[in-house]
Amino acid sequence: MTPVTTFKDKNVAVFGLGGSGFATAQALVAGGARVAVWDDNEHAREKARAAGLRIENLASAEWRDFAALVLSPGVPLTHPAPHWTVVKAREAQVEVIGDIELFCRERRKIAPKSRFAAITGTNGKSTTTALVAHLFRSFGLAVEVGGNIGTPILALAPPAPERVHVIECSSYQIDLSPSLDPSVGILLNVTPDHLDRHGAMENYAAIKARLARAADHAVIAIDDAYTLAVAEELRRAGRPVTCVSTTKTDLDDGIVLEGSRLMRHAEGRASLIADLKGIASLRGKHNGQNAAAAVAALGPIGLALEGVRKGLATFPGLAHRLEEVGRKGKVLFINDSKATNADAAEKALLSFDKVFWIIGGRAKQGGIEPLRPLFGKIVKAYLIGEASEAFASAIGDAFPYEICGDLEAAVPKAGRDALASALADPVVLLSPACASFDQYPDFEKRGDHFRKIVETLPPTQTQG
Ligand code: ADP
Repeated sequence: MTPVTTFKDKNVAVFGLGGSGFATAQALVAGGARVAVWDDNEHAREKARAAGLRIENLASAEWRDFAALVLSPGVPLTHPAPHWTVVKAREAQVEVIGDIELFCRERRKIAPKSRFAAITGTNGKSTTTALVAHLFRSFGLAVEVGGNIGTPILALAPPAPERVHVIECSSYQIDLSPSLDPSVGILLNVTPDHLDRHGAMENYAAIKARLARAADHAVIAIDDAYTLAVAEELRRAGRPVTCVSTTKTDLDDGIVLEGSRLMRHAEGRASLIADLKGIASLRGKHNGQNAAAAVAALGPIGLALEGVRKGLATFPGLAHRLEEVGRKGKVLFINDSKATNADAAEKALLSFDKVFWIIGGRAKQGGIEPLRPLFGKIVKAYLIGEASEAFASAIGDAFPYEICGDLEAAVPKAGRDALASALADPVVLLSPACASFDQYPDFEKRGDHFRKIVETLPPTQTQG
């Protein structure tokens, strides 16, 4: 835990007692603050009470006594409307912040020079966070990893000169961190998302940009107009920024993905950093962007190429994101259950030549229409869940499909067809382009179920 000492002997309100709120309250108490916690959920309050936290109904609290309101990132700060605690805090001129802000203040106090890599972007945050952590570890550094992924930031060991913090930041968390100042700030990409919570694309993009602007060293993947504008602005201001790209191979300075090769461009020369070909956890151009950003985030130690290559090659990847879950004979089974929309499924389809594709669940707006340009990659589709009928009519006669109902039926069928095909390396891909909620509590359970079914298939599936 990182005790938060910057509010010692002060009154602090904590609203929202999920994982991060709980850890925040405990870290504030450990640092000597007087903490009042509240959550609308009675079960969460009970748990907090059992852990010795002081429950106070913030609806009837004396707000002028609080030095700060620490809000869970899931609670609306601005849109669609500020939460009632935010309104009360503002009326009483109480600042509203989040757990990452508390960490930043503590770091400035106890270890201002410690390494702190913060990662954001619309997509690829978790993968890049895990990869940066893995690379630093492979160089022998002590790494604490968390934030929006896994462990809440304040549940991690405190910042220290010998320790690296690698922290995934959602836009909500950045919004609650006015003095976020990582030593390295990685901005991966900005595409429309969460606009219900940020009002407009400009607001969302501006929040993401803040992470890069405030960093000692910014790493920016300049493959979209929003991120490119931030990089240009920082360059003009003379700020240290490393650009990476998967589309602009003519960068003077930075890291570029050319085919499967990560190249460093500097002083008019291009040199090979690593070839990602054959690294199962980094398939696809999107992962090229993640890998380029992660290598750039290493700073000078990234110049030790043997170490970088070994680190990349040993990256285990994250579950449910193009995860290899088995091979039966010549057939490779890939779990991409995290692909809950067409955008993510597109990344998966782009990563393979020909697939036996398991899709469906609860459809998102637009369905699979955006994937039409990639229909040529699909040998056959196996439809599951609520979206089956709609997807069947979207597919029409573009490629063969079967309505299977659920994964229990779809996986063995896809496996058998793949094995019987003339393809040398057929792939059965679960990349559903749908939410899982019609059949599973979450995408993790869906992916776990897929993995289990694959494990129970006979070693080399034969017909019948
Ligand atoms: P996040 O934490 O931002 O949701 P993840 O690393 O969990 O990102 O990846 C989620 C999905 O986003 C992946 O399954 C893939 O489809 C897509 N993705 C990953 N990296 C990128 C990227 N750099 N650009 C675009 N899409 C990506």
